[in-house]
Amino acid sequence: MLTIKVDPHTHTLFSGHAFGTIEENVRHAAEVGLDAIAWTDHLSPMFTPVINGFPQLGGMLNLTSLPKTCLGIRVYAGVEIDIMDKEGHLAFWDLVPPFGPPPGKKDDAPKMPSFLEFFLPSREFTIASVHMRPGQLPGTEAEFTDMYVRVMQNSRVHAIGHPIRARYPFDWKAFLEACRLTHTLPEINEHTMDLNEEFVATLRTFAEACARDNVPVIVSSDAHSSFHVGGLSKSIALLEEIGFPQELIANRDMASFEAAIAAKTGKAPDRH
Ligand SMILES: [Zn+2]
Ligand SMILES: [Zn+2]
Repeated sequence: MLTIKVDPHTHTLFSGHAFGTIEENVRHAAEVGLDAIAWTDHLSPMFTPVINGFPQLGGMLNLTSLPKTCLGIRVYAGVEIDIMDKEGHLAFWDLVPPFGPPPGKKDDAPKMPSFLEFFLPSREFTIASVHMRPGQLPGTEAEFTDMYVRVMQNSRVHAIGHPIRARYPFDWKAFLEACRLTHTLPEINEHTMDLNEEFVATLRTFAEACARDNVPVIVSSDAHSSFHVGGLSKSIALLEEIGFPQELIANRDMASFEAAIAAKTGKAPDRH
């Protein structure tokens, strides 16, 4: 029997198309026996308003106002960021914050960090996902494989969200080899199981490939309402059917989840 104590992919109202607050998500997580969730609202041109040139981050950077542990549930400050193109650029990659160097310091002022250089280090867990419609980004399987590999080479990205559901073809073997080498976690996404039988069959084969190639994964609800936080029953049933090893589920408990993050970034997650 597989057990999973961390839901590493959950959304709140702040995503614009989700229903739960942090408190509601945490209450449900406690009810279903989780120890932790990652709070991973979208950072995406599709979902994130931009005002005066600056993406509106709401509470995402106001972490001192949110306890690290709420109602006994550890809340990892995360994000689900969009992959934008075949080069593997992430949402708002070319944005420099619209504040300049202090007056009188123009010449010798250090280069301003890009928005992502400023934002991503604040995240304890970052999922990068493709949300473009199939065909919106023209390209070949080799190009999309390269895209994912480049994203994995970003030391701030811990996981690739729903690679099967994105419906951009990629070479599984090369993808999984890159996951292993870069300590990036592919996602088994519960929501993908709700779509149709074809997705379920593909996800099953993908999970078998992860097990065969010894690649750790995350298993996530991708909850867009508090009622779905920790809802992993279909994924767990699928993984049990194929004999997926518990030790390859990086989010089976907090210790294994933090170890997987540390494997990528060199240090365990932490925040105020
Ligand atoms: Zn997504
Ligand atoms: Zn999501």
